[in-house]
Formats: sequence, structure tokens, C-alpha cells
Amino acid sequence: MAVRPHSARTYDAVVVGAGISGLYMLYRLREQGLNVLAIEAATSVGGTWYWNRYPGARVDSQSHVYQYWFSDDLLNEWSWPERFPDQAVMEQYLNHVADRFDLRSAIQFDTRVRSARYDETRGRWTIATAVGEVFDAQYAVFCTGGISAPLIPPIPGQDKFRGPIFHTARWPKSEVDFSDKRVGIIGTGATGIQVIQSVAPQCAHLTVFQRTPNYAVPMRNTRYGAEDMAQFRARYPELKKRVHGTFAGFDYDFVEKTFAETDPAEREQILERLWNDGSLAMWIGGFRDLFTDAAANEEISKFVRAKIRARIHDPEVADKLVPSRYGFGTRRVPLENGYYETFNRANVALVDLGAEPIKTITADGIRTSLQEISLDMLILATGFDTGTGALSAIDVRGRGDVSMRESWKNGIRTTMGLTVHGYPNLFTTMAPFAPAAAFCNVPTCLQQQVDWISDLIRYARSRGVATIEPTRELEDRWIAHHDEVASMTLIPRTRSWYMGSNVEGKRPQLLSYIGGVGAYRKQCEELKASGYPGFAMA
Ligand code: NAP
Repeated sequence: MAVRPHSARTYDAVVVGAGISGLYMLYRLREQGLNVLAIEAATSVGGTWYWNRYPGARVDSQSHVYQYWFSDDLLNEWSWPERFPDQAVMEQYLNHVADRFDLRSAIQFDTRVRSARYDETRGRWTIATAVGEVFDAQYAVFCTGGISAPLIPPIPGQDKFRGPIFHTARWPKSEVDFSDKRVGIIGTGATGIQVIQSVAPQCAHLTVFQRTPNYAVPMRNTRYGAEDMAQFRARYPELKKRVHGTFAGFDYDFVEKTFAETDPAEREQILERLWNDGSLAMWIGGFRDLFTDAAANEEISKFVRAKIRARIHDPEVADKLVPSRYGFGTRRVPLENGYYETFNRANVALVDLGAEPIKTITADGIRTSLQEISLDMLILATGFDTGTGALSAIDVRGRGDVSMRESWKNGIRTTMGLTVHGYPNLFTTMAPFAPAAAFCNVPTCLQQQVDWISDLIRYARSRGVATIEPTRELEDRWIAHHDEVASMTLIPRTRSWYMGSNVEGKRPQLLSYIGGVGAYRKQCEELKASGYPGFAMA
């Protein structure tokens, strides 16, 4: 008979991660009386907003929808200073939430979880940390984030470089001085764009190494005062319902008619309006056939290309910066503030890695196939092993000692991104095959997932159920539905982290469910309302 591991500390639930979803999970599970411990690798709360403290880090969602909805007191107390707050404000907000709801006392910081093993005899999880502590819990909830495992590119010579190398997602807390420095930045995704436009004016010289150009939309940021906040607070009751029903968890949704159904003059007018909104509405609040109709997508892409090209002085640089090989919106659209104008500066050079790939990092800089570039500092804005990276870094073993990371090498499997067959009493947020994985204003989807998991645990406990596990049939059905919806869109045709194709050797699969936040929620709610059919409860 299996026994509780010697010296293990026992809990009803262990939550891994104290970012947006981990904090809320902890709040919800404690609310229903569970003895919960959250384990966090960082020294404080915040997740993404703790780690990504690189220069220029700022949220791309409007603050009035990028927040928690569970407490009216919190909504009334907290004032957002800007439409798109920076990392420091987001970190302050999450720290405020942790203190306001006394969550910190249930979080063990500076602790990395290394393994989680399901004990079939006892129906419990044994969770072990990097330093050998062991925890015993009925429920293991992984709030480890979908964009949290930094990707260090396999470029040779990194150990030879004499200057510092920073990954944007492991940026130091102390100030980095760029003055008099020749800086190199690899990567031009949402992160790279923010760093590039922020560092260029501060350094002696900047070389940007670009593998794939991005379509970015100008961010129109504004300061908020007391009057703005009063107006938002009046709308909060409506907003907190609305975000759960839209395509991507924002307060805006697609326009009514498709691009194909709209006449040319009206199309232009709508596109100009969306562009001038200065938000992600240009992407996920515009024409829905952007994602499904190649001809419509190409027309919208042309509109965006012209906007970008008009801002770049040198036509040769513009040829490199303006995307031409894939459609607008088929990879994550970043917002920017003067990004394209950055390349008009005399101290900025662009290296197109399509034409001259990096051969190696040297002691003094980077050698491409055509030239050697001297650098004092290198910044890797090279992204993440998204969707599965954080979970796969932990040795998770379910029934029959089956390893999740090994199984996922043959194809990721989840039931709605919330649970996994073969792993009873294990729950995930922001895992693959839910909108939360990519196509969502993250806090909207994370709160919906946390509420759903918390409701399921409450349901099971109220009926004396010890273990909950999705059946293979339910999981197969969900994956088939996910794949079918994905195949109706243009997204799988483009190489990006949405497909996992940024990681060498990763099997391409659309990570995010793309049927829409509203449609996903409806399916989750139907399962709940009908007593969770497709879940084995024992
Ligand atoms: P990313 O979108 O994956 O971009 C990584 C960049 O590094 C890409 O340009 C990629 O090129 C390049 N790269 C990777 N490996 C490389 C290599 N070996 N050689 C050369 N270039 C390489 O990652 P990210 O910019 O960190 O953004 C990830 C996601 O985080 C975003 O899409 C967004 O969802 C979120 N995010 C949000 C915000 C915000 O809200 N403001 C800000 C930052 C990030 P390829 O494109 O060719 O792969």
C-alpha cells in the first residue's frame, strides 16, 4: 500500500505559480475552505509581470479590461494611471491584490517545483521542489503560464561573448546602463519591438537582428484621471459580463459584416477607424474573415503594409521591415510606439537574418554569413517555449507513471486546456487548446478557467467525490473539435509560436482554441450545468 511520503507537508491543494491565475486560484480555493499552498519560483507575486521587467515592457490590452473582476471593493479602490499600463504598474497591482486579500501568507516563494507524481492508491499528488521539499495534496493546480518558459536560441558561441547577455524574460531588477554601449537585440516579436523602441534612444548604437518582420499597430496610450476612472467604474458591471462573451475577451468584438460583404468605401472607413483606435481592435475587433478568407486577409494586409511603409525613410529598410510572406493577424499583432521610426535613426541598423543568418556569437559580437558586428551587450528577445514549456519543465507523472512531457512529444492532449486524461485531480490554466493559450485578453480567460476549476472542485467535494478525471472520449472529442476549428482558419499556414513552430523539433499544433472566448465559455458552462458529463468521478 502506498503511503504519504515521509516528511511531506499535506494540503488539500497545491497551486503552482503566483501570477494572475495562481493568485486568483488561491483566493477561490481558500474561499471554499481548502487548505492551499501556492508555490512560486520568483521572490514575489506577478508571474509575467514579475519576470518581464525589460525596458519598455507594457501591456497591450486596455487596463479597464486587463484586471480582476471578483471584488467590487478592488474595482472601486484601484485606479489605472494609463490606458496601457507599464510593467511596474502591473506588478504593483498584483502585489496590491496579494496584500489586499492576504494571499501572500499562503505562498512559498523562491521555490521551483521539479516534479509532480500521482499516487493511484491514495488518489493524491506528491509535489517535489528543486531543493527536495515534498508536498502531498489532493489537487495539483498548475497556473504556470503559457508564455513563461524563456527560449534561449541554440546559437553557438554564447559562452564566448565578453559582454552581458540578457533574456528579456529574465531581466535584472537593477538598472541596466545602455549609454556608450553597442547593443544587439535578437528578436522582433511583441517583446523585441518594445525593447527596440525603448533602448535605441538610450544607447550608442543598436543592431536589430530580425528573422521575421511583424505587422505592428501604433498604440494610442493616454493618461487616465479621476473622471476617466469614474466613467469606467460606472461601466464595470456591464464590462465584467461583456468580456466573457466576445471573440477575444475584450470589450470590443468583430464588426457585424465581413470584409467580403462590405463595399470598398466602407471597408476603408472601418479600417481607418480601427487603425486610429490604437489598440488590438485592428486585429480582433475588425473583420472576422481576416482569419478565414485569404483574399480578405490579403486586402487588409495591404492596408497595414502601406501604413507601415509610409513611416520608414529608406525603401531598402522598409522592404525588410514590411511583412510580405504571411497575412496580417495570422501571428500575434504587437502594439508599438515609434517602432518603425526607430529604424530612421542614425544609430540603428537592421540585419535581415533571412539574407544573412547568424553563424555564431563571438567574444566581440555576432558573426553572420556576411559580416562581423561588434557589440558590448546582447539582448535576447527570442520568446518562449509557449503552451507546454512551463509544464514540460516539471516531471509530471499521472496514472501508470506516464510522463506528461514524454506523451506530449507525440502530440499535446488536454481537455479544454483545463484537465488531462490520465492525470486525475490535476488542473491547468493557460494550457493548450483553450482560448487562454493565445487568443484572449489573458485575465478574462484565466478568471473564467479558475472559476470553472474551482466550481468543479466544489461540486466534487460536496458529493464526497475524491477523484475527477476527464474520459478519453471527452478529450478526443474536444481535440477533434479544436483541430476542426483551427483548420478552418489561416493561422496554421503561418510559422509562429501560435503553432509551436518557434521551437526546433516541436510538433506543429495550434496551441489556442480559436472558436472564440464566448463559444468556449458556453461549452464549459454547459458541462457544468449538466453535471460534468465525460468526467469520471470516484
Ligand atoms: P515571440 O513573439 O516568439 O518573438 C520572438 C522573436 O525572436 C521572433 O522575432 C523570433 O523570430 C525571434 N527568434 C527566436 N529564435 C530566434 C533565433 N534562433 N534566431 C533569430 N531570431 C529568433 O516572443 P515575444 O516577443 O517574447 O512575445 C511572445 C508573446 O508574449 C507575444 O506574442 C504576446 O502574446 C506576449 N507579449 C505581450 C506583450 C504585451 O502585452 N505588451 C509584450 C510582450 C509579449 P521568428 O518570428 O522568425 O520566430
